[in-house]
Amino acid sequence: MDNDDIVRLKQNGTWSPGVCLYCSGSGSIGIDMLGKAPEEGTYQTEKPAEKDDYNNWGSSFPMDEKREGCPVTEQNRLWLEEAFLLLQDFFIENIQLRKVLIPDYNTFPIKYDGTKQSAYDTMKIVATQMEVSSDSIELDFYDEEANQISGAGHLFLEADKDDKNAAGLYYGMNENGKYEIFLNTRQLLDPESLVATLAHEIAHIKLLGENRIDENNEHLTDLTTVIFGLGIFNANNAFRSFRGSNYYEWQSQGYLSQVQWGYSLALFAYIRNEVSPAWINYLTPNIKSDFLQGQQFIMDNKDLVFQQVNR
Ligand SMILES: [Zn+2]
Repeated sequence: MDNDDIVRLKQNGTWSPGVCLYCSGSGSIGIDMLGKAPEEGTYQTEKPAEKDDYNNWGSSFPMDEKREGCPVTEQNRLWLEEAFLLLQDFFIENIQLRKVLIPDYNTFPIKYDGTKQSAYDTMKIVATQMEVSSDSIELDFYDEEANQISGAGHLFLEADKDDKNAAGLYYGMNENGKYEIFLNTRQLLDPESLVATLAHEIAHIKLLGENRIDENNEHLTDLTTVIFGLGIFNANNAFRSFRGSNYYEWQSQGYLSQVQWGYSLALFAYIRNEVSPAWINYLTPNIKSDFLQGQQFIMDNKDLVFQQVNR
């Protein structure tokens, strides 16, 4: 981000120039395989990896095909399983006991009236769930005008680089020693999307902010929301963000595809020994369908799932 961008975004005196390290969708986390974005992602930002890159995955199955009954390709399955094991190493505490948040008033006893206060209150709940002190977060807002600016998108906004309608962004630690998160004010009108965006941005804090990884990885960031029991919101939002061929839905967000979310949630239920968790009833029908297919695949293939990753 340079001075021109700051002026265009009306952030003079607030932001300073610099290269944004986050949300550019270009990073890897230093482990070769995890640096490769899942191939079928809606917002894929990297070229599909050569098969040679997967030599240490113990699978001779064609990487671009799906095993019978599996909702994702072999490459995606192995990537997701490896990423899950990495996140499990990072966040093993409480993973079994952690409550899965659902979109209801008991979980979010907040009056969603479009005010910034409703976003602050939501942020506190999501931060607590993700074991980040809400005092360490500074929440700011930008309005949709910022999204009309062509060319600014790739610098720091969420979603893919051509999408000028980012829902939020993570700016790292500011000079006050706080993690800075920006929300598009349009999020205030959409509580479920608001939760999903906050969960994604706070996942950046968990990974980058708390120094668990060195380089950004958006797919791993999305997966982190699952580990922290917020996957319902982010998965449902990914489905809603489906785009037509010649227009952009303004709420476009998320990096994993629908089937990848479904399989990720199935892995999450599996490591928690949940057979038929009540929370799946809050998933949109398509995600739930992919979840159930993934769960069945896992049950039928316990000799494969999580078994082919060299650690
Ligand atoms: Zn991000």
